[in-house]
Amino acid sequence: MTTSAASQRLQKQVALVTGGSSGIGAGVAKAMAAEGATVIVNYAHSADEAEEVRQEIEKAGGKAITIKADVSKEDEVLAMFDQIRKEFGTLHILVNNSGIQVDSPFLDMTLEQWQKVIDVNLTGQFLCAREAAREFVRRGPQPEISKATGKIICMSSVHEVIPWAGHVNYATSKGGIMQLMKSTAQELAPHKIRVNSIGPGAIATPINLEARDTPEEEKSLLTLIPYGRIGEPADIGSVAVWLASDESDYVTGITLFADGGMTLYPGFADNG
Ligand code: NAD
Repeated sequence: MTTSAASQRLQKQVALVTGGSSGIGAGVAKAMAAEGATVIVNYAHSADEAEEVRQEIEKAGGKAITIKADVSKEDEVLAMFDQIRKEFGTLHILVNNSGIQVDSPFLDMTLEQWQKVIDVNLTGQFLCAREAAREFVRRGPQPEISKATGKIICMSSVHEVIPWAGHVNYATSKGGIMQLMKSTAQELAPHKIRVNSIGPGAIATPINLEARDTPEEEKSLLTLIPYGRIGEPADIGSVAVWLASDESDYVTGITLFADGGMTLYPGFADNG
C-alpha cells in the first residue's frame, strides 16, 4: 500500500466486498483499502480467513471490518446491510464477488448441484445488488465524495462468453450475471448508479487449485492465455479500483475482461 492519502481514489467511501476473505475478493478488498475505502470483508464460512484479511488491511494503515453472511440467503443479506448502515451510515461501492464451482458432467448433474451454484453465484448477486441500489437511492448523491451515487461491480468470468463443458451450472450463472449487470445498469443509470462487471480469466486462487496442480496442468492452462501468465488477485484488484473510482465515471454496463487475452480465442492463432 504505497498510495499517499492525497492521491487516494476511494477516500471517504465504504465498500462491501462479498467473499472478501479469500482469493480475488481478498485482493480487491486490499486494493480498495489502499485507496482509502473503508472495507467490509464479507465471508460465509471462515471467520479466521476474513480476520486475516482485516488485520492485513489495518497493518497497512487501512480500515476494515468483517461481516458473516451467506449471500444466497435473503435474511442474512438484509441483516448485513442493516449492520453496514448502523456502523457506517451508508455504502458507496458493492463488489459482488462471492462465487463457487460445483462441477459435474452434464449427464450426471443433480438439481442440487445446479441450484447451489445458481443460488450463490446469481441469486446472491441479485440480493446484494438490490440492497446496495436501495441504499444508494435512499442516501442520494454525495458529489463531494464521488460523482456517481453508487457503484456496483459484479465478478463475472470469461465464462460469461466462453462455453465450458463440465461446468454448465457455473457458465450459466456467469451468463446470467451479464444480463443482471446490463439490465440493472440500464435501469439504475438515471439514479447515477453505475453497474459494471469484471471478467477474470485464470487467476491463481483456491477455486482453481485443481486446474494448476501439476506443471503439466499449468502448461496446458497457459496455452489458453496469449499473454503467457496466470493472473494474480492484485490484477483484478486494480481493475476493481478503477471501475469504482471517478476515473471511470462515464463507464456503465460493460464487462471488462482481465484475462491475459483468454477471450481472444488463442486456439485460432495458428489454426483458423
Ligand atoms: P475463492 O474460492 O477464493 O473465493 C470465493 C469466495 O466466495 C470465498 O471468499 C467464499 O467464502 C465466498 N463464498 C462462497 N459461498 C458464499 C456464500 N454463500 N456467501 C458468501 N460468500 C460465499 O475463489 P476466487 O477465484 O477468488 O473467486 C471469486 C470470484 O471470482 C467468483 O465469483 C469466481 O467465479 C470469480 N472468478 C474467478 C476466477 C479465477 O480464475 N480464480 C476466474 C473467473 C471468475
